[in-house]
Amino acid sequence: MALVVQKYGGTSVGSIDRIKAVAARVAKARDRGDRLVVVVSAMAGETNRLFKLASELTELPDVRETDALVATGEQVSAALLSIRLQGLGYPAVSFLGFQMNLATDSNHGRARIKSVQCDRVMRALDDGRIVVVAGYQGVNADGDITTLGRGASDLTAVALAAALKADACEIYTDVDGVYTADPNVCPKAKKLGRISYDEMLEMAGLGAKVLQLRSVELARRYNVPLVVRSSFSEAEGTWVGKEDQSMEDVLVSGVTLDQNQSKITIAGVEDRPGLAARIFGPIADAGIVVDMIIQNASADGRTDMTFTIGREDLPRTLDLTRRVANEIGATDVRHQDQTAKVSVVGLGMRSHAGVAARMFQVLANERINIEMIATSEIKVSVVVNSKYGELAMRALHDAFINGAATAAPDGLA
Ligand code: ASP
Ligand code: MG
Repeated sequence: MALVVQKYGGTSVGSIDRIKAVAARVAKARDRGDRLVVVVSAMAGETNRLFKLASELTELPDVRETDALVATGEQVSAALLSIRLQGLGYPAVSFLGFQMNLATDSNHGRARIKSVQCDRVMRALDDGRIVVVAGYQGVNADGDITTLGRGASDLTAVALAAALKADACEIYTDVDGVYTADPNVCPKAKKLGRISYDEMLEMAGLGAKVLQLRSVELARRYNVPLVVRSSFSEAEGTWVGKEDQSMEDVLVSGVTLDQNQSKITIAGVEDRPGLAARIFGPIADAGIVVDMIIQNASADGRTDMTFTIGREDLPRTLDLTRRVANEIGATDVRHQDQTAKVSVVGLGMRSHAGVAARMFQVLANERINIEMIATSEIKVSVVVNSKYGELAMRALHDAFINGAATAAPDGLA
């Protein structure tokens, strides 16, 4: 008997009819003999609606109360699914975060999981029940409700799968798997049969929205086999797991586009020790994640630094940067609020040279100017004007995936 954790996202449980459809799918898995833990998100749009209610009452709602509020979304869908399963004659029981002691720190709104006590879940499974779990929520040491960050029902599912040593963690969503690119931008995008944790991690961090980033990190750490599938069809889905030899044969597995970036340049910074720390220290202290950073070689003892951040952080970051610029005598702070980051990701890059050069050529052929470049072992990212983001994605997808471009063999690029 396999132990399977299934997770259903917001659109999958978005209406009473959808909850019925999910219950039918769960019942079918149960009839096959699986032991099931089913994690649910709030019904589509519900979490946003709850956040909005709070913000209509006061400008900066208290984080503890906000968590108590937004966690109700998952409470509703978990209870509804359990009610439906029982109505169909299946023994089901629902648990909220605190009822199964999903312990977190007290960082309300983005709490980190410390431990999951599976006793109660295990007992219910041993009693022959289908366990339905409210995703996205936990409890801190004071017994207060916490939430784990937007999209974190995936994380709940993976954490439970790891703790229960489940045979698989099935993530049901409204797309039928992980694609080589966003099919809305790239009609020729193809569904991947398999992808490695490392590639999925890069893709989730680079703007592919199908899996929450931290859930992939956790799955990789505990080796939880994941499959991303649609709850609206019987299509096969994409497996995310440990890499194997053949995965390296594929040069580029996916192309991602993040249109939600802004760029700041601080010009005329004196070239001496300590100034980068002065600039980026306050930004980090404000909890703002800086993505790419480039510093030019200095001319006449001064240098320029350019970096990118998520667009929602632009106003705060600009403010902090201008303040430091003043203090350290930098000559100018410029920004561009709409920039796009386009990336190619693939394990094959580790053993093949020339991917970056080939990528730059493809963009040159489209007359797209590259503003910044960053690389890691298995990805190359460029920042371009957001006007050209989609064009860049399509051109790169055509070249590397539809055209199956190969790079020059090692050393010949
Ligand atoms: N309901 C939460 C959100 O909308 C968690 C989730 O859907 O995974 O962010
Ligand atoms: Mg979601």
